[in-house]
Amino acid sequence: MKCSFCEQPLVCKACHKPFHPRQGQTHLSAYQPDMEVICPECHQVLVCRACGYVYGEEDEDEAPPR
Ligand SMILES: [Zn+2]
Ligand SMILES: [Zn+2]
Repeated sequence: MKCSFCEQPLVCKACHKPFHPRQGQTHLSAYQPDMEVICPECHQVLVCRACGYVYGEEDEDEAPPR
């Protein structure tokens, strides 16, 4: 899956693993701003490692960083 902003391979910024949506979840290619994408590896909000785009809300005030 490519990042919808920088069009580079989408790699999770938190765990540095490439994000691959499961087959059948092609709706992720049509990302909607109100839809959160959770990394299946580290279960955090997916952030593009290349451009830093957050696929979801940044909840730094509510979610404690790990
Ligand atoms: Zn991750
Ligand atoms: Zn990106």
